[in-house]
Amino acid sequence: MRGTLHKLSAWRVPLTRIARERRAQSDLSPQAGRGARKRAFTLVLFTLVASLLAAVGPGMAQERLAIVTTTSDLRSLSEAVGGDRVAVTSLVPPSFDPEDYQPRPQDLARLKRARLVVRVGLDFDLWFDRLIAQAGVRRGEAGYVDASFAIAALEVRGASIGPGDGHAHGSGNPHYWLDPKNAEIITGNILEALARLDPGSAPIYEANRLAFLSRLDRKLSEWEAKLAPLNGVPLVAYHNSWAYFARRFRLEFVGFVEPKPGVPASPAHIVSLIGLMRARNVPIIVRQPHEPEKDVTFLAGRTGSTVVVLAASVGARPGADDYLSLFDSNIAALVAAKAR
Ligand SMILES: [Zn+2]
Repeated sequence: MRGTLHKLSAWRVPLTRIARERRAQSDLSPQAGRGARKRAFTLVLFTLVASLLAAVGPGMAQERLAIVTTTSDLRSLSEAVGGDRVAVTSLVPPSFDPEDYQPRPQDLARLKRARLVVRVGLDFDLWFDRLIAQAGVRRGEAGYVDASFAIAALEVRGASIGPGDGHAHGSGNPHYWLDPKNAEIITGNILEALARLDPGSAPIYEANRLAFLSRLDRKLSEWEAKLAPLNGVPLVAYHNSWAYFARRFRLEFVGFVEPKPGVPASPAHIVSLIGLMRARNVPIIVRQPHEPEKDVTFLAGRTGSTVVVLAASVGARPGADDYLSLFDSNIAALVAAKAR
């Protein structure tokens, strides 16, 4: 609607000119002429508004380029680039573990309608492979984006681990969107694909991305300042989703409840973690909403640390409504726990 109003204001000049020309042509008496002119002007304005609303409203909705992303984070970043020219759907609901997702029947239908698909890659969303094969989407074609392209992955091990379980972090730690600096690369990958599919709107996509990155840049210094009191403070998390986040903000995760990504803790591991947390005086233990509470609560009780629930994805916690507020809300939660 804001866009429509903005476009309407551009009509002000021609409308005034039309009214002036009409006034000049009018051979009615000044008194009667004013009333007729007013009515004519209102009619012209009404017709223009009606035709603009008809053209802009449903027309734009139909032309929106359909994008399907695996996660809500990629949805938010695709929206940042595509603006009102795209309609983005993400497949994994925020309350689910995206590394262990079972696609639903409606996901395939959504995929078939999409012109662009965007995935996390790095073995994070391996379940997406079968889905795109069923939908007839091929890697390497214009409508396919692996957002991890050109990302410098952390914790890359030998290739021998092999695919099969995204949880295992086989191709390196896949949680790269949690370094806000990586949003430059991710949105760059999305921009390139959108400009290829819709070259006429490329300048708009480019401007959207630059506006988003400048907001992100301002936020980044704010977040760094807020997290300064946590620099070098030892932390523990349930799953190692935080490698990129920690590197950017100089946080130190010294241990994980999972002995390996995707592997639940054994009693022996819990015992050694209690020892580590006491020795390092760990004040905070981090859990995501979908991760089990039991071990984390037990560890906190035995060590006196505070449990902080953080969202690794947009929508996983109230307040984490888009890519920028995801960081706002996580950082606020960490800072509040440290101050306790
Ligand atoms: Zn993971």
